[in-house]
Amino acid sequence: MSDDETTGEIRNVIVIGSGPAGYTAALYTARANLKPLVFGGAIFVGGSLTTTTEVENFPGFPEGIDGPVLMENMRAQAEKFGAEIIEDDVVVVDLTGDIKTVTDTAGTVHRARTVIVATGSGYRKLGLPNEEELSGRGVSWCATCDGFFFRDRDIVVVGGGDTAMEEATFLTRFARSVTVVHRRSALRASQVMQNRAFADDKISFAFDSEIAEIKEKDGMLGGVVLRDVFTGATRDLDVSGLFIAIGHDPRSELFKGQLDLDDEGYLKVASPSTRTNIPGVFAAGDVVDHTYRQAITAAGSGCQAALDAERYLAALG
Ligand code: FAD
Repeated sequence: MSDDETTGEIRNVIVIGSGPAGYTAALYTARANLKPLVFGGAIFVGGSLTTTTEVENFPGFPEGIDGPVLMENMRAQAEKFGAEIIEDDVVVVDLTGDIKTVTDTAGTVHRARTVIVATGSGYRKLGLPNEEELSGRGVSWCATCDGFFFRDRDIVVVGGGDTAMEEATFLTRFARSVTVVHRRSALRASQVMQNRAFADDKISFAFDSEIAEIKEKDGMLGGVVLRDVFTGATRDLDVSGLFIAIGHDPRSELFKGQLDLDDEGYLKVASPSTRTNIPGVFAAGDVVDHTYRQAITAAGSGCQAALDAERYLAALG
């Protein structure tokens, strides 16, 4: 016996996550009259886009839209059709039976026939002062999202893997110069990605170096200080863009031992569907997606998860 209090109702759908994937899954299941219950997270309601400013690549907004406003709009649209949103974390799940249970931070157990997991992934951070404050103000984790804002600017990219090389090469379309900062003396990226970056006149490399300081000027990024990891010597780099490409961590910890994860911790689904290894459990958005990691792709897979859940419920009769 547990001390947890169980709510009487058995829901059709519980959605975990309130980013573009979660809200889109909520919108579709709400419009299918399935009355979804959405756990939006205790402190991160609206997901990753609430940490940025202008979003210029979500279709339908020719002038761009503020990230938090976009997420408020998605929430309002899902609620309009009957989605119930709880601003709390799910701390325990039992997904194995026909009736799945999820437990919130107060210990209340919620039951449902289907669960859609849309918990996203977090960009790894450098852990330096000013880093979070200047997100969307010169500091970025996504060249596809923000490269356009850096026309004719000097930019620094941190990282030595494929993503860092891809970001650096992509950014040369806009930037005047790109400096790749890497802690080691050799890159980890595949040879083809390295060759492409080495061949690009706009890209230079600062090996055996790390970012020691992120400077702020008038509320925007005001340059960085580089430190040699061997000598400790520092030097200023006058840049207006800092792109951090040192990896991502999918938020899948809660599901370990129940849902199949790949080597990097992303949830595995039976592509092109959103079905996980457990019947009735679906996954969408960045917690699944190694590759695209965009708001629109997360929203698209949230829609797929909702349709998959609807079909699963219809088959139950
Ligand atoms: P997220 O948006 O990360 O949402 C995950 C949700 O899960 C959150 O609501 C969180 O609270 C919730 N959650 C996690 N764990 C739990 C739990 N245990 N219980 C309850 N809830 C939980 N993409 C673009 O297309 N254009 C852009 O311009 C752009 N700019 C970006 C700028 C920044 C600074 C960042 C960080 C990302 C940006 N992205 C952009 C990427 C985009 O935000 C993501 O691809 C997208 O948000 C992924 O959506 P998601 O729903 O999968 O996850």
